[in-house]
Amino acid sequence: MKKLSFFIIYSFLLLSAHSNELNVITTYPYIASIVENIGGDKVQVTALASAKWDPHTILPKPSYIAQLRKADLLIINGAQLEIGWLPQLIRQANNPKIHFESTGFLDLSKFVNLIDVPKNISRASGDVHPEGNPHYYMDYMNLYQIAEAIKNKLTELNPENQRYFTENLNKFKEKLNGKIQNWEAKIKNLYGIKVIEYHKIFDYFIKRAGLVLAGTIEPLPGIPPSSKHIEAMEKLIMMENIKFILQDVYNPDDAANYLSKKHNIKMLKLPHDVGAVDGAKDIFSLFDFIIERLNND
Ligand SMILES: [Zn+2]
Repeated sequence: MKKLSFFIIYSFLLLSAHSNELNVITTYPYIASIVENIGGDKVQVTALASAKWDPHTILPKPSYIAQLRKADLLIINGAQLEIGWLPQLIRQANNPKIHFESTGFLDLSKFVNLIDVPKNISRASGDVHPEGNPHYYMDYMNLYQIAEAIKNKLTELNPENQRYFTENLNKFKEKLNGKIQNWEAKIKNLYGIKVIEYHKIFDYFIKRAGLVLAGTIEPLPGIPPSSKHIEAMEKLIMMENIKFILQDVYNPDDAANYLSKKHNIKMLKLPHDVGAVDGAKDIFSLFDFIIERLNND
């Protein structure tokens, strides 16, 4: 009898502990990685998209709707990166907690400065970056504001854990400080190196590292290259001293391969998100991996 009542109490405690956890859904794995650092064991976090896929065009699955239905908090990248796939899922999930104006909705793009913001917002030309470049987390300096925004939101939804979240944020910032020291020592060697990339997904990193972006294989973000554009790239390559072609893991790499072989330029396949390659296990090793590759090739 004693054993049984212990079991019942234990199960009840376990259940109530579990129900106290915030159920956080993020659109991309890099956000989940930061939430894990700040939320610790007070949150359950799931990323919807895989880092192996094109972040602009995630194929919606029915399981996403079920996950959104149970969410206490939805955290998105924003700046229109999810515009092609997320709004319809939010509508279908019909969870008032995570609607655009609800407390359980957080758009991280509101906390950073975007680059390449156009004077007139338009997708008319097919550009998938109509509000500016949405891949802002590739500048590791932006991780401070992102982590802070996440901590504030978790605290707003779960004020009794304010101290815990603040301590975790401080630990995160300390670790980031150390990592940045290490990264900056290594990227010093990269200053002024000219690169080409497929999609404008590494721009924030390129800027931070002092690399020079000479051109992109896509004529416009989201538009695949024509043979005419490839010819223009070849002319550019002959005039400029390009060291690397930066290719993401999800776009076709035939154009990059062609240019790499013909003009003897190293092509580097780099992760754009946590989990895009095996070495990028969390938000810190994502940058470890990129910087190692650029330094060692
Ligand atoms: Zn993009």
